[in-house]
Amino acid sequence: MRSGLQQAELEWRLVHVPARDATREELLRVHTEAHLAEIAASAGRTVRFDPDTQAGPRSYAAALRAAGGAVDAVERVLAGEADRAFCAVRPPGHHAEADRAMGFCLFNNVAVAAAHALARGLERVMVVDWDVHHGNGTQAIFQAEPRVLYVSTHEYPFYPGTGALAEVGEGKGRGFTVNLPFPAGMGDAEYARVYRQVVEPIGRAFDPQLLLVSVGFDPHVADPLAGMRVTERGFAELAAVCLSIASGAAGGRAVFVLEGGYDLEGIARSSAAVARVLLGFAPEPLSWPPSGPIDPLVDAYRRVLGPYWPVLGG
Ligand SMILES: [Zn+2]
Repeated sequence: MRSGLQQAELEWRLVHVPARDATREELLRVHTEAHLAEIAASAGRTVRFDPDTQAGPRSYAAALRAAGGAVDAVERVLAGEADRAFCAVRPPGHHAEADRAMGFCLFNNVAVAAAHALARGLERVMVVDWDVHHGNGTQAIFQAEPRVLYVSTHEYPFYPGTGALAEVGEGKGRGFTVNLPFPAGMGDAEYARVYRQVVEPIGRAFDPQLLLVSVGFDPHVADPLAGMRVTERGFAELAAVCLSIASGAAGGRAVFVLEGGYDLEGIARSSAAVARVLLGFAPEPLSWPPSGPIDPLVDAYRRVLGPYWPVLGG
């Protein structure tokens, strides 16, 4: 990842900004006191929170820095210091719930960043989550919050088990959780079609004032944990869709935050491809068939989500 971004830095003048730690106040907007205490108590030790999620002696420090980096990026983008940011942070965040570490995640970086934007007075924040796993934590934290639109594409059924199409949010938040489950084996063309035909129209209809992206590179074709077939070219297309969504009320403001991804070469190349789009280089057009084997899937999205998002023509 570093090698990929360093190349981007050299060739495309990416500006590198060190991250800072998240404050207690920032974390408490989405996490409980008990959760903060539990994660803090892991400092200097090795603690297993669940079968997938272990903290080493320095994990707490890294988690504070990861969440703080995402908040700082939101601050800088809202202040006009930058239009877009890419937070190369770990551990990832989107499985972490208000009171629970899960799926390699200790604090929910993107949720903490979204809550920060709300605290700054924004009324429409969108989170696009293209990690191959469903972001159960982000969904749970904002499921009743109409100011945060959460849109996730993910392999399903798969870890962590949530993210069915029928999960659309609760109470005032109904319709503001959008789950687009995919079968394994989807590649650039299928992802591009769903992002252009479903994610982009919903996003433009919501017209966020700030776009956050949970960037997981585990849909990559070489990823050892999942079964998708996305290449760097595909990730560039997803980034281009995100910037299109951010081109309305957000005025181009978008913060991309790294989530999962377990093939290091794939992460490096994909990060560079996404950074290139964030720096204003349009990717070459990626063609996708307007109809094909995934028609039933797209029809199902329209049928379930059309009542909330008439733009889909469901
Ligand atoms: Zn993942």
